[in-house]
Amino acid sequence: MTQTEEQSVSTGDTPFVPIDKIVSLCKRRGFVYPNSEIYGGVSGIYDFGPLGVELRNNIRRFWWWSMVQTNDNVVGIEGAIITHPRVWEASGHVENFVDRLVDCKNCKRRFRVDHLPEENIRQNKCPVCGGELTEPRKFNLMMETYIGVVEGERMKTYLRGEACQNIYLDYDNVLKSSRVAIPFGICQIGKAFRNEVTPGNFLFRQREFEQWDLQFFVHPSQMQQWFDYWKERRFEWYKSIITHKDRLRFRAHGPDELAHYAKQAFDIEYQTVLGWQEWEGIHWRQDWDLSRHSEYSGQDLSYTDPETKERYIPWIVETSGGVDRTFLNLLIDAYEEEPPSGKDKEGRTVLRLNPMLAPVKVAVLPLQKNKEDLVTTAKELHSKLRRLMVSQYDEVSNIGRRYRRQDEIGTPFCVTIDFTTLEDQTVTVRERDSMAQIRLPMNEVPAYLLERVRWDYSV
Ligand code: ATP
Repeated sequence: MTQTEEQSVSTGDTPFVPIDKIVSLCKRRGFVYPNSEIYGGVSGIYDFGPLGVELRNNIRRFWWWSMVQTNDNVVGIEGAIITHPRVWEASGHVENFVDRLVDCKNCKRRFRVDHLPEENIRQNKCPVCGGELTEPRKFNLMMETYIGVVEGERMKTYLRGEACQNIYLDYDNVLKSSRVAIPFGICQIGKAFRNEVTPGNFLFRQREFEQWDLQFFVHPSQMQQWFDYWKERRFEWYKSIITHKDRLRFRAHGPDELAHYAKQAFDIEYQTVLGWQEWEGIHWRQDWDLSRHSEYSGQDLSYTDPETKERYIPWIVETSGGVDRTFLNLLIDAYEEEPPSGKDKEGRTVLRLNPMLAPVKVAVLPLQKNKEDLVTTAKELHSKLRRLMVSQYDEVSNIGRRYRRQDEIGTPFCVTIDFTTLEDQTVTVRERDSMAQIRLPMNEVPAYLLERVRWDYSV
């Protein structure tokens, strides 16, 4: 059944995780740190720690694999963060990439006008303390920088405010240097920079963040068909990597939100303690981008059909999402605090991350650290496994505590080397979610694990 905005399902029984718990786990276990923390930090900018970088790489690689590697009509590029300043005039960012902002005269809080409830705008009233709001002021979100060293000769330009512009800039080069023909797509993952006036909610709204884009170039007569195709595919992609499927929905943009060239646009939204929030946008960009860049650069970016010889500016379907919002939403989706039970007397915090995205795939644990044979066998297995996937060796503290440490970072499998291993070369494999344990011959462990952590997506 096609999912539409009307079919959004209300939340199930599981309560939403407060963002603070995710922030705390991320810092404690090395996923995310505040940037420049020893100097007091910078609002809206973060660094990723040892586990964070593994999770991010897996998220990026999975997107790339499912969007580029497994589609014959999609190729990838990696563009620079700095471009010619005219790019941002052509794109409309210099003129229009602004947020309207109001301050509360009483509590001094600051709000984006488009994030305020209707009623507060009408009454000019602060949603927190009821104080009077200032007149809206406009702020451009582009981050400025300069190229060159000699004062007076330096060129002012911008760190890119959205990554996708590189795709339009490289479109003609890709066409001429690759064997692509319309309909085809170009993908990119890359950093974007915005002087967000209200950064916050951890990774949700940052000033430096990462986006992934597909720009799919089509003949105008095929626009609707490809728009529908990518809209459904992207929805299914997100659904395939989360547990709480009922927290995903489409939201159609209203007429007042639509760009003048867009017939329709949808956000894929995910519901958290912050409410329903955009995760990815599916946009009908028509011929806007290539026409503007043709006009501003003076280069003809039209396409000639190799068979019919028809000449036209291709229309574009865009799917544009955030690596950081994916990172955050996946942690929120996966986080669970389980009370003590028959299986686990103390209770545990578990990240039910999809095994293919989990930062660590397996932990190898000798039952005791003071028994040399157990330690040697465990280290041998660990050094075999780490060539195939991210494996951790851990001998510190009792086995239950080590399981819980791995549960908390989402490791899908733990392999325990015990005294029986020394007799018959079998090991215990414990699965994170069910905590079920099975006994396997040690030499079968690599293939068993590989089968369970490989990319798996067939939409
Ligand atoms: P919003 O309405 O939340 O400000 P947007 O509509 O401006 O987002 P786009 O310009 O369409 O967002 O960017 C595409 C994707 O990039 C978004 O769906 C989101 O996942 C991500 N993104 C945008 N702004 C930020 C940000 N400040 N921090 C983190 N991710 C962001």
